[in-house]
Amino acid sequence: MRVLKFGGTSLANAERFQTVADIVVNNQRQSQVALVLSAPAKVTNHLVAVVEQASRGLDPAPVLAEIEQIFHAIIDGLRERVGGLEADALKSQVERELGQLARLLQGVSLLTQCPDNIQARILSRGEALSIAVMAELLRARGEQVEVISPQAMLLGEGSFLEAHVNIEVSRQRFRDQGLRRDCVYLMPGFTAGNDKGETVILGRNGSDYSAAVLAACVDAECCEIWTDVDGVYNCDPRLVPDAKLLKQLSYKEAMELSYFGAKVLHPKTIAPIAQFHIPCLIKNTGNPQGEGSLIGPECSDDDLQVKGISDLSGMTMLNLSGPGMKGMVGMAGRLFTCLSRAGVSLVLITQSSSEYSVSFCIHSYDKEKARKAIDGEFALEFKNNLLDPVDVIDDLAIISLVGDRMRTAKGVSARFFNSLAEASINIVAIAQGSSERSISAVIRKEKVTEAIKACHQNFFSSRQFIDVFLVGCGGVGAALLEQIRRQQPVLEAQDIGVRVVGIANSRKMALDRNGINLNEWRDRLEQAHDAFGLERVARLVEESHLINPVLVDCTSNEQIADQYADFLAAGFHVVTPNKKANTASLDYYRELRRAARATRRKFLYETNVGAGLPVIENLQNLIRAGDQLKAFGGILSGSLSYIFGKLDEGMSFADATRIARENGFTEPDPRDDLNGMDVARKLLILAREAGMELSLDDIEVEMALPPEFDASGDIDSFMARLPEANAWFEARVAEAAAEGKVLRYVGAIENGHCKVAIKAVDGDDPLFKVKDGENALAFYTQYYQPIPLVLRGYGAGADVTAAGVFADLLRTHNWKQEI
Ligand code: ADP
Ligand code: ASP
Ligand code: MG
Repeated sequence: MRVLKFGGTSLANAERFQTVADIVVNNQRQSQVALVLSAPAKVTNHLVAVVEQASRGLDPAPVLAEIEQIFHAIIDGLRERVGGLEADALKSQVERELGQLARLLQGVSLLTQCPDNIQARILSRGEALSIAVMAELLRARGEQVEVISPQAMLLGEGSFLEAHVNIEVSRQRFRDQGLRRDCVYLMPGFTAGNDKGETVILGRNGSDYSAAVLAACVDAECCEIWTDVDGVYNCDPRLVPDAKLLKQLSYKEAMELSYFGAKVLHPKTIAPIAQFHIPCLIKNTGNPQGEGSLIGPECSDDDLQVKGISDLSGMTMLNLSGPGMKGMVGMAGRLFTCLSRAGVSLVLITQSSSEYSVSFCIHSYDKEKARKAIDGEFALEFKNNLLDPVDVIDDLAIISLVGDRMRTAKGVSARFFNSLAEASINIVAIAQGSSERSISAVIRKEKVTEAIKACHQNFFSSRQFIDVFLVGCGGVGAALLEQIRRQQPVLEAQDIGVRVVGIANSRKMALDRNGINLNEWRDRLEQAHDAFGLERVARLVEESHLINPVLVDCTSNEQIADQYADFLAAGFHVVTPNKKANTASLDYYRELRRAARATRRKFLYETNVGAGLPVIENLQNLIRAGDQLKAFGGILSGSLSYIFGKLDEGMSFADATRIARENGFTEPDPRDDLNGMDVARKLLILAREAGMELSLDDIEVEMALPPEFDASGDIDSFMARLPEANAWFEARVAEAAAEGKVLRYVGAIENGHCKVAIKAVDGDDPLFKVKDGENALAFYTQYYQPIPLVLRGYGAGADVTAAGVFADLLRTHNWKQEI
């Protein structure tokens, strides 16, 4: 005989009842079937609600009417489909049952509470009616049916609402009674009877357990759990759309997964079938052809170390600590005994090695019971201050990794905790089962989706995403979008999805959680209504559970730079060529680094100096390795590199500046280059990287103009006045040439002092040959002297800068995948 169990979603309407009947009839042809049914979807929830309402003196009639409506709709639907169905008789049965319920609920209203035995009777009615409908349907379709009364056959022990079944006694009852061979057996799930024959129930979601128990009692060849998904997935498919179906898992793996929250199976299901070595198949009612998942003694022949990741919400953690805990024999024993006596089940326990505290997780609904039990048990210790008041943390969830092969694997927990850290998730407590078949972390419940996604990405090498919010889509921003667009297919092939989920300019912001199509970003921005702001962006991240959001600031805006610390604190990485943040006050400079460390986010600004040249990273590496910056000289401005290079070639200063401007090598107003402030900012950033605690005011800046030059007025009048500077430059160029030198606009660090000025450099200087827009940076360090470390190349331009930003962007993604 095979036991087939169908859950509530498989029985949600008439069509599904028919589908179930089809499956049963087909199976019955192959070998005898015993059918276990849940209540149709929503019915048990409604029954819980009517009990609640009646207990609070509210009228349960409207919800009872909804239950009636669900069954009537199913029966009416079946009447249309199946000839010979005794629909009216069925409907009267439903009405009778619900009438009885209404009377019970009147009693509950008067008492303003519902005793557990009555509650068990009420909650079990959904399954009873499911069976009545299915029995009639199968009869109408010509099957012989026999209904098994779980109250009479399954001996329930323990409480009325969370009973477990005594398998030995129940098996004997089945043996005594004997079974027919020519019929379909039907049994309501979720239900059993105590030693007095009173109805008890097996806990929410308990019909799976009923099926397992029945399978054990009748020595079934197989127990099939039919539900609304194709089988057991490696994590909840509602949270991770690309969760993988597990073809085979061991009893122990299934037990751990369901214990730690995989709702597809009730945790009590496995014990009876494992005890009698009955294979268990999980199948999809909507896809009977699918293979399903097989649970048996073997875990499977693939060599997955981690089989699945589950989540269990609704947890509360209690922490018992105090001087009295240390060395006192039997404290833990007393604690757990008193909880067990109070009927509180412990989901997870951890103890600090100092023995100073014990922490444990329970279902939140058990919190008051647990607190009362502990207060009673340890009243004396509390009174004498041997124990501190119990610390209670609500709104928690447990994330668990499960797999038989984890026992022999190394580094699994490291990757697990790393995944959580990468997703910016704080771990409240950890526990590893002694079987080493599961590792669990307790986290805040609102982070569950992120946690599951991050672990799934990390362990099952599915696609990983970088979610970009770009603000500023002028030259560099637009070039970056184009580079991302071109590179997306290449990265996709490496399982890296770069999704641009937000694009903003100074007025508008377009958002799309699935990623904006980069062929039409300008239109999307044009049509957008939102304005850029942390709150709006953070809301999208939270709602869509994005785990690797990155703010990319391609503006030169100070107000946006002022918000980086808030973005980092909100869990964003920040990537930017904007120099404003790193040249703001030292306090803010430090705050940014603190915020990044605290949230384990990255603040990356490689393009602040030398655009795409690898300046910052190299300098950081040197300093981290213990090197010290002794002196520095650099050409840090592409436009001034160009202008001063032209002076060597005999061009006048005014012409060189004009041509540079016409070619777009300068800012629209060349004074923004000539005033030296841009170079000063870059020099300050380098100095700070090297550990110098300086501010912009400390940088000595000489403009790239004659000292007395009148630089006022609008751009045109300034440009018209430029030839007046020619003579001054010619004289200085000649003076330098006489000594075999050339003029360069140099940012220099010497003896702890930073200076930006025109400097004459000789042929031995690494800056001598640097012109035509090139940048060069010469670092004289403890290790690199007397010949400096020189970085040289184009240090400006939208494309090279965007490429540098892109490289930083990809550095936010540093998870290591199993190959
Ligand atoms: P039924 O009504 O058939 O008893 P349940 O709703 O109790 O169905 O369980 C099936 C649901 O369990 C699925 O729809 C799925 O959303 C959820 N689920 C959670 N974790 C898993 C998992 N690891 N594998 C499959 N389903 C899971
Ligand atoms: N109907 C019960 C519930 O909803 C039992 C089950 O469906 O497994 O909890
Ligand atoms: Mg279920």
